[in-house]
Amino acid sequence: MKQSNNIKVITRFAPSPTGEIHIGGARTALFAYLFSKHSGGDFLLRIEDTDRERLVEGSDQRIIDSLNWLGIAADNQNKPMIQSERLDIYKKYTLELINSGKAYICTCTKEELEKEREAQIKKGLAPRYSKKCRSQISDLKISEELLEKGATVRLKMPESGKIIVDDLIRGKVEFDASLLDDQIILKSDGFPTYHLASVVDDHEMGITHVIRSDEWLPSTPKHLVLYQAFGWQEPDFAHLSMILDADKKKLSKRHGAKSILEYKEQGYLAEALINYISLLGWNPKSERELFGLEELVKEFELRNVHVSPAVFDQVRLDFFNEHYLREKNIEELKELIGQYPDEALKLIQRGGYATANIARDYLDKLFKGPEYGASLLVFKKSNREATLRGLKGVLGEIKGDKGEQGGGRDNEGIVWTDERLQSILSGVVEREGLSNGDVFWPVRVALSGEEKSPSPLELMLALGKDVVVKRIEEAIGKLG
Ligand code: GLU
Repeated sequence: MKQSNNIKVITRFAPSPTGEIHIGGARTALFAYLFSKHSGGDFLLRIEDTDRERLVEGSDQRIIDSLNWLGIAADNQNKPMIQSERLDIYKKYTLELINSGKAYICTCTKEELEKEREAQIKKGLAPRYSKKCRSQISDLKISEELLEKGATVRLKMPESGKIIVDDLIRGKVEFDASLLDDQIILKSDGFPTYHLASVVDDHEMGITHVIRSDEWLPSTPKHLVLYQAFGWQEPDFAHLSMILDADKKKLSKRHGAKSILEYKEQGYLAEALINYISLLGWNPKSERELFGLEELVKEFELRNVHVSPAVFDQVRLDFFNEHYLREKNIEELKELIGQYPDEALKLIQRGGYATANIARDYLDKLFKGPEYGASLLVFKKSNREATLRGLKGVLGEIKGDKGEQGGGRDNEGIVWTDERLQSILSGVVEREGLSNGDVFWPVRVALSGEEKSPSPLELMLALGKDVVVKRIEEAIGKLG
């Protein structure tokens, strides 16, 4: 290992502000966060905005909002490093490399390069830069002038041998140096390429561990050459395998993956996403699957991240979300879902609702009033006459009921409890000589309009006396 053990760990998340953070980006950020916090280190944010054509206005702020909401804010979140503010610094380092003969100015025109490319392709060769400008003199003064006018600068890559990336997740990965092009590090518009900017910044930020997606693995040998050219200690690298969708295709914006803020808007909970995403590639080495952020910080190890790609599974994400939704207390549910009566929100705590929005839709529908056909009121082992008797019996009891003190829902002074309602409904069954299906079933349908729903007692508590009376009257009307 390149880093000594007693050094403070500093990781970073380095998104390009070209849009929202999706599941993949969130996982990269989370793993970098967990790894640093596991040893009390820092987690830093850097905005990589050097590709000016792909910038999306406001996305840097939305990236910060996403990290905040997930609860994994960067330590420098109020003042992240922003690459476009550092052009002078990249230029200074580029001149340093030119001066030491590690990089050179390339004066080839676009047309020349294009011609070269076409000729190589015609011959069946992989297109590469001919290195024509590699032997140009590296006079600092002339170089400075050329850079001022806008020149391209290339890095001198070794022409033979192997470059070995010692990756913390995938071990030693070998690259054949002769196959790597002399990479452009500074563009004629004065902006650095990703390679130069990322190495300079990781060095200046004191990054000890670069944790990023494996799409950057092929760039890493170029980065190693840059570290060497500067004479800097390189960080450790950990490249995370990609996340696939259900069809085993790369998970992408186009293939169903929503942005983190879209999940938020749809009623997903940050703790559910964190828990779910943590398991995309990380193996806790136990049967346990529920982890809060603090526990993840404690348990997370890079060596338990596997090389094989993780597969995104919406059903499992919903499972986690339902779990964490069920765990919310009434006050939290009011925040998340809306100002419904406590007894109504207790229905959500019983589970069965994948997201806060689904739960809200359910309660909205429940309070708006059921729509159903009269035949649904009659239980399969019952008949119209018995059903009517049951409903009328319950209506009579409830209308006259004054409730009791303590527990349950307070509806204009009426206090209901589960037990009280149970004994009212059972009392009707007994007195009228009916079966449970003649009473409990139609009351439940009258209140919910559904074949399957929470129990009649839960619905009565949730809706309160006034609504219950009205809906049972409507049901009687439908049958009558
Ligand atoms: N800007 C790159 C991205 O958005 C980051 C690459 C890196 O972490 O080095 O994926």
